[in-house]
Amino acid sequence: MKQSVKMIVGNWKMNGLAADLSAAVVEMLADLKGRPASARVGLCPPATLIERMVRTIDGGPVSVGGQDCRVEAKGAFTGGVSAEMLVDAGARLVILGHSERRQEFGESDALVSDKVGAALRAGLTPIVCVGETLAQREAGEAASVVRGQILGSLNDGLAGQDWALAYEPVWAIGTGLTPTLEQIAEIHAAARAAMVERLGDGGRAALILYGGSVNPGNARDILAVDEVGGALVGGASLKAADFLAIIRAAEPAVVAADGQG
Ligand code: PEP
Repeated sequence: MKQSVKMIVGNWKMNGLAADLSAAVVEMLADLKGRPASARVGLCPPATLIERMVRTIDGGPVSVGGQDCRVEAKGAFTGGVSAEMLVDAGARLVILGHSERRQEFGESDALVSDKVGAALRAGLTPIVCVGETLAQREAGEAASVVRGQILGSLNDGLAGQDWALAYEPVWAIGTGLTPTLEQIAEIHAAARAAMVERLGDGGRAALILYGGSVNPGNARDILAVDEVGGALVGGASLKAADFLAIIRAAEPAVVAADGQG
């Protein structure tokens, strides 16, 4: 199934100071205001920049998001940021279960599912990340690993809510490597089946984003693959021109003009 309105979300990871906002976001907003994108656009800076970015965007066509949240709303969790705090800062999205958090912080599927529940409680749109390692792909386990992560990381509360899944092969993140278009199609189909297995009809509507070395050169082909509902973009989202080119590659009119719509 091809979906016409795609979602393009930038993940700045632990990059960005106040000075970077004027360079990247202001340039991007000027372009988007001049020729509005028909894709949904999100940008997830470090938590320290959320409020400033929201003020910079000031009602513009970009939703700001967090990169993680705790399960608890508040309490004695030094260094923690809750979903409620993200909302308080102006965020509308949150990335959860990113492979860097799964690997660096040992986050389990069960914890990610609880974080999804916390995000929904606060009114955030969760973007739930899954993806296999290179060893798992080479062992022929990519589809089964992704299915297991989806069954474990989704949360009953997602049915009927605004949310997205992001398929991000770990070996493609920040490496310049990407799966073939056939491999992306295969895993996105498997992911959809697992979403429906987990949530019934509630698993049919959510977009499935692809993430992992998306850039202006490969975005249009990737975004035209069946069941690719958008992209989660790391490195390329730090450069306004590259991120804008990826947003433009997601526009239905561009896809239709190429005869791929
Ligand atoms: C990511 O970290 O979510 C990501 C997709 O990174 P990159 O685009 O840099 O591979």
